[in-house]
Amino acid sequence: MPKTELTLAGAFLALHAVVIAMFPQHAMMVSYPFLIAAPLLATATMLRRCFIDGFALYKGWILAAISMLLWTLGMLMSAGAELLLDTHNLTPAVIMLVYIQYGVPITYAASGAHEERESVIVRITDAVMAMTLGGMFYLYTFSLASLHGQTDAHNAQRVVLMFDLENLFLAVCCTIRYLAAESYQARRMFGVLTIYTVSYLVAALYYNHVLALDEAHAGSYPALWVIEIPFLLAAAFGWRGAVFTGFTSPRLQWIRIVRSGSPLMLALAVLLTSLLVLQIHFYVAVAGIVIALIGYGLRSTLTQARHIEMEDALRHDRDELEDMALEDSLTQTPNRRAFDLALHREYARAVRTGQPVALLMIDIDHFKWINDRYGHLTGDHCLRTIATELRKVLRRPTDLLARFGGEEFSLLLPDTDLPGAQAIAALVNAAVRKLAIANPDNLDGIVTVSIGVAISLKNGEETPIDLLMRADKALYQAKHNGRDRVEYADMPEANA
Ligand code: GH3
Ligand code: MG
Ligand code: MG
Repeated sequence: MPKTELTLAGAFLALHAVVIAMFPQHAMMVSYPFLIAAPLLATATMLRRCFIDGFALYKGWILAAISMLLWTLGMLMSAGAELLLDTHNLTPAVIMLVYIQYGVPITYAASGAHEERESVIVRITDAVMAMTLGGMFYLYTFSLASLHGQTDAHNAQRVVLMFDLENLFLAVCCTIRYLAAESYQARRMFGVLTIYTVSYLVAALYYNHVLALDEAHAGSYPALWVIEIPFLLAAAFGWRGAVFTGFTSPRLQWIRIVRSGSPLMLALAVLLTSLLVLQIHFYVAVAGIVIALIGYGLRSTLTQARHIEMEDALRHDRDELEDMALEDSLTQTPNRRAFDLALHREYARAVRTGQPVALLMIDIDHFKWINDRYGHLTGDHCLRTIATELRKVLRRPTDLLARFGGEEFSLLLPDTDLPGAQAIAALVNAAVRKLAIANPDNLDGIVTVSIGVAISLKNGEETPIDLLMRADKALYQAKHNGRDRVEYADMPEANA
């Protein structure tokens, strides 16, 4: 609770009440400074928040300021009419209109998007709907109260009813947005707007239904200060940023509903006011209804389009991340993870189809010498060159070359039997030799590879890991037997 601010607000009201009590015959006159100062103070507070908050949610604060400024203007006009023209009768309908319009910026704020960038078309759609809303208020008010303020009791009641409905609508919209606020800043802004609109609703109900009738008859206005309460509360709660601390995020489901439903608020307000105008200006009202429907439809479609666009972008990013997660960045070949997935997949297929799958484990001989002699960057380059050559050996799109780790590659060949694997192993050996990368640690003075080959068993009595272990063992054998050679894993008699 902003204690200091609320105390000051209370003092403001008390002073106003005292002044009225001192000059009961001129209650209206002496009240104007208070009635103008209060909304002006609230306007200044909204603008202050807008600047202090670094323009986060600036639109909402500015719209709130506009709403309060309209009130200030209305009061200035009333005061001017009374002081300069010495009449109680100057276009109260015009003035009333200014007050009624206070709801347009607030509705606009409540139906605004949730801290997202909006397209120009969405903004234009919203602006057209807000202007239609203002226009409908204008028409309805003037249909009930003439320019000169002559209005019968029945029409006066209808104007008051419209006030009530408008105030209720605004209070509900702001409360919903407050409860579904997604961030601390949004909670603070809609918190202030909720305090403003709810207290406005209560103050207006009390004033219009209880006080105004008596006061108008008696010609005295002892409780005029009631009107200031919403503005002083908005200023008191908006002044310091820290009032709405302790933010706990509302339920996600609730946020989503309000998020997708809030654009409806503006359209709904246009629709409802158009319905009010229906009896007075049929075609204008129909135009209002059409604007509300098209506005909402357009907005929903655009929002939907943006969501689809975002979804496509996310899918694209996901695909890219997935590729990155399965690819070795140095050699641009599938990595160990991709190999493991492929091994299990191809092995299961081999068991199902009864076709053999061949696995070649390829290790570069004495690779360490290259690193030691020329450095790691040259070693890296050598790995890339060899990977490129090995890729060229692949014949079928289902064949998979992967970097198993370090200077070791694995080659997975579906539907390949021993003779097929032998042929590929010979090609691999030849391809690496052809590069003729110097390595005096090897017998021929060039880079060579050792290869261990294993073929899956026909009866499928092994796991993919067993196949891998057999290939690895064969590779070890190849190293043991002098390198630069191919060794084959043992096969049980029935499989050979
Ligand atoms: P062997 O014939 O027994 O396979 O001998 P080797 O030297 O190839 O084997 P060893 O396992 O002793 O050394 C492998 C070397 O490969 C050591 C390691 O630093 C190097 N290596 C592993 N990954 C990379 C890499 O990404 N880039 C570079 N430049 N070197 C790597
Ligand atoms: Mg090696
Ligand atoms: Mg190795």
